[in-house]
Amino acid sequence: MKRFAIAVDGPAGSGKSTVAKAVARKLGIIYVDTGAMYRTVALHCRQKGIAWEQEAEVAAALDSLEMKIVPEEGGQKIFLNDVDVTTEVRSAEIGKGASAVAAYPKVRERMVELQQEMAKVNSVIMDGRDIGTVVLPDAEVKVYLDAGVEERARRRVGELEAKGETADFEEIKKMIIQRDYNDMNREHSPLKKADDAISLDSTSMTVEEVEQAILDIVHERV
Ligand code: C5P
Repeated sequence: MKRFAIAVDGPAGSGKSTVAKAVARKLGIIYVDTGAMYRTVALHCRQKGIAWEQEAEVAAALDSLEMKIVPEEGGQKIFLNDVDVTTEVRSAEIGKGASAVAAYPKVRERMVELQQEMAKVNSVIMDGRDIGTVVLPDAEVKVYLDAGVEERARRRVGELEAKGETADFEEIKKMIIQRDYNDMNREHSPLKKADDAISLDSTSMTVEEVEQAILDIVHERV
């Protein structure tokens, strides 16, 4: 089969990564979690004592950051200067930092380049905020996945609790609203639905239903 790409964009907690991993497994293609890449930049800055608000310092810190993404069955591992940070970058705090550093054009340029390289040699399903609009504008399938904010907050609380982190629903909901606001209103590559993306609302859909909806579109188009 010819190489193809699936772009999945949407706000925090809409279920992008869960569904994208499942689709990748079904189709035997590579899943790329681009959020993890921005999270890794945020972690790198934190480790170097650089505040996320300092654009010039954050941009300069890219010079000492080597990022490696290793796809694996149903997911990916991400390495920061040869250390596996896959789990470490998942915290709510690092998510906040990711949203801050993701606003900087120098950071985005570097990440987009890496993402496009991966899609050049592999069939991929990539999730993020700007995949259908900027990273893979020619993707065969584009999906914009959304869900109500209450449901998204509930899912995030569940995820964090499953990892043993304590999570307050109202606080998480507030963080999600703030993060979405930042992501949708930033100047460079804001989160928005690509004109040719298909919208799916996962509020009352199961993972399997969303997965099937995406597979149906893939079978129609690829
Ligand atoms: O999806 P995830 O919650 O891991 O993303 C963390 C943050 O990284 C997002 O809030 C967003 O600011 C940023 N991001 C982005 N572009 C992407 C993926 C993530 O700006 N393609």
